[in-house]
Amino acid sequence: MKIAVCVSHVPDTATKVKIGQDGKSIDQNGVTYIINPYDEFAVEEALKTKEKIGGDTEVIVLSVGSEKSKETIRKALAMGADKGILLKNENEFESFGVAKALSTEIKNLGCDLVFCGKQSVDYDNTITGQLIAEMLGYSCITVVVKLDIDGNKIKAETEIEGGREVVESELPAVITTQKGLNEPRYASLKGIMAAKKKVIEEKPVKSSEKMIEVLKMNLPAPKQAGRIVGTDSSAVPELVKLLHEEAKVI
Ligand SMILES: Cc1cc2nc3c(=O)[nH]c(=O)nc-3n(C[C@H](O)[C@H](O)[C@H](O)COP(=O)(O)OP(=O)(O)OC[C@H]3O[C@@H](n4cnc5c(N)ncnc54)[C@H](O)[C@@H]3O)c2cc1C
Repeated sequence: MKIAVCVSHVPDTATKVKIGQDGKSIDQNGVTYIINPYDEFAVEEALKTKEKIGGDTEVIVLSVGSEKSKETIRKALAMGADKGILLKNENEFESFGVAKALSTEIKNLGCDLVFCGKQSVDYDNTITGQLIAEMLGYSCITVVVKLDIDGNKIKAETEIEGGREVVESELPAVITTQKGLNEPRYASLKGIMAAKKKVIEEKPVKSSEKMIEVLKMNLPAPKQAGRIVGTDSSAVPELVKLLHEEAKVI
């Protein structure tokens, strides 16, 4: 079986984001990029599935992006994935175009199982996996925190508000991964060295027609300085009054 894992190359969550001069893009200066954290769960689950199934199962990592996305593909290869494909496009920022590029390649490869993170922590659209499933006609299980694949059958637990839902489905399928599904392995030194020799195929993809235009980006309002109302229990009535009348949180 061929397993596809979709990984996005995202700004490090510790980065202090600045808005570019055009007012509608991110200033790339000083931004470090990492593998999308939710995609590490996707890579780990693909590797665990391969270990369980055995045989000639292959884990193929795909990313839509620029040359720089190869760093993220390389990280997944160092964790143990077999092969990487960069679907090269410098201008594709919309989930629909990203999903179109990914689903076309996944179809060509003949992957029956596709892992995505539940969300890419740059644009946070939380939609690419679902779009891929729709485009391929695969079933889709989202926000998965427990997964068991036995032959063609899939049993999964997904996170819902205040609890979990147990669902069953069949391959071919797209699974989107949530924190708690597994503990992503660290790339060993041996894995890092091996990843340097693994192939990253490069395929140019055309940009799809833009459906959404970014008009403006705003940074969140700076946090106001805190105020100490008092240091003992006598401050409680005043604190409650302020929380009710000023902060309006109670
Ligand atoms: C500063 C910046 C620069 C960017 N530069 C480029 C660029 O040069 N070229 C380009 O094509 N895109 C670029 N992007 C877009 C980016 O890589 C994502 O594709 C896009 O943000 C999709 O986000 P989303 O919120 O729709 O994904 P979501 O729907 O939240 O993502 C869900 C899951 O889909 C998968 N996924 C999402 N995006 C990708 C991807 N690109 N490749 C593989 N799997 C993916 C992952 O598994 C992810 O966990 C850039 C984004 C930013 C913020």
